[in-house]
Amino acid sequence: MNTVKSLLLSLALALPVFWVSGVVQAETADVALTREAQAAITPARALEMLQQGNERFVSGKTLPRDFLAQVRQTSTGQYPFAAIVSCLDSRIPPAIVFDQGIGDLFVGRMAGNFVNDDMLGSLEFATKLSGAKLVVILGHTECGAIKGACDAAQLGLLTATLANINPAIEAVQGDYTPRNSANAGFVQAAAEMNVQLSMKKLLDRSVVLREMVDKGELGLVGAMYDVTTGKVKFYK
Ligand SMILES: [Zn+2]
Repeated sequence: MNTVKSLLLSLALALPVFWVSGVVQAETADVALTREAQAAITPARALEMLQQGNERFVSGKTLPRDFLAQVRQTSTGQYPFAAIVSCLDSRIPPAIVFDQGIGDLFVGRMAGNFVNDDMLGSLEFATKLSGAKLVVILGHTECGAIKGACDAAQLGLLTATLANINPAIEAVQGDYTPRNSANAGFVQAAAEMNVQLSMKKLLDRSVVLREMVDKGELGLVGAMYDVTTGKVKFYK
């Protein structure tokens, strides 16, 4: 009898792992997201999936993945659950730091992770047309683009790129002296303000995205990646 009980208990424990939909299968890393699995993910669940993925990453317990199998599975369509706006910085490959596979994330990268019309149009594609349930504006510590903007650095076309970060720098309040890249506190305050203003700009500028957020179809969250730990802190 005890053997039967323990067998039943084992089966019960195993159920969520093996018999729940494609959402869980995707998190076990063998199966790419399907249209049905994507549709079943809520914005809140998408955030949870990213949080759990980053926890796996920082604890060194990333899931084993068969990338070539995912290439084959996604060859006829993609159903990512989230879209990440991140910096160009080589230290923050979103799929790796969130422990996700091929076909799981849209990623838009720009030095200084700001949004402009081209990025917002891309996010409209990622969400309204392609079904992603969450947009993350992901800043990071020690950002060279933020430092460059803090110093009003000038170089070719980069000058205009960094100018997109100026509103965040100007919006930083507080007694920061000096207000340049020599002051690590000021740089980080500017990076955090840049995330906040990018979220605000997204909602102000994109009618499509704002309506989806208002209806609860889409989540929007800011986050900060720590280049010393690999940890992502989500802002609420
Ligand atoms: Zn950066």
